[in-house]
Amino acid sequence: MTKEGKLIIFSAPSGAGKTTIVHHLLSKIPDLEFSISATTRKSRGDEVNGKDYYFISKEEFLHRIAKKQFVEFEEVYSGTFYGTLRTEIERIWKDGKTVIFDIDVEGGLHLKRKYEEQALAIFVQPPSLEVLKERLTGRGTDSKEKLAERFIKAEKELNYAPQFDIILKNYDLETACKEAEDLVSAFISQS
Ligand code: 5GP
Repeated sequence: MTKEGKLIIFSAPSGAGKTTIVHHLLSKIPDLEFSISATTRKSRGDEVNGKDYYFISKEEFLHRIAKKQFVEFEEVYSGTFYGTLRTEIERIWKDGKTVIFDIDVEGGLHLKRKYEEQALAIFVQPPSLEVLKERLTGRGTDSKEKLAERFIKAEKELNYAPQFDIILKNYDLETACKEAEDLVSAFISQS
C-alpha cells in the first residue's frame, strides 16, 4: 500500500488568482506535484490534456463515478463536472511528493474534512467581488451566460472563507505568492 503523504488545497472563487499562485508554487517548491482533475468541460486556450486537466466525456465521467474512482467530484457549473481521481493522489504520494490542488470551494472543504491534519486548506481571497468580476470578464474566455453563472457562484463562495485553515489575501499577486510559499514550505517541513 502507498504510504500516505500531505495535501495542500487551494480553493477560491474562479478569478481570485489561485491557479497563478499554484503555478508559482509548483515552479518554486520541487516537493509539490499538481493533482490533475478530470473535467467534462472543453479545453480553453493553451490548456493541455493530461497536464492542466484530463478532459473526458460526460459518459466517461459518469462511468468513473459509478466505479467509485473519485475522492470527490462536483457538478461545479450546471452540466459540467470536475473531480479528483483517487489514482492521482496515489500516484503523487508514491513518488514521495506532496499533492497540491486547485479546486473549487466545496471540493476543497470536502478534501479537508476527509484528510484533516494531513491537509492544509488555503482560501485565496480577492480584494472584492467587483475586482473578481473585472478579472473574470477580462479573461475573455467565457460566454455571457457562463460568466453570469461564475459571478453567482463566486459571490456564494466568498462566504466559505472562515471554514479554511488559512485565508490568503490576494490583493497584490507578488505578495500573495511569497506568503503562499512561506506557508506551504512550513507545512511541508512539519513532521
Ligand atoms: P475552471 O473551469 O475555471 O478551470 O474551473 C472551474 C472551477 O472548478 C475552479 O474553481 C476550479 O478550481 C474547480 N475545480 C477544478 N478541478 C476540480 C476538482 O477536481 N474538483 C472540484 N470540486 N472542483 C474543481
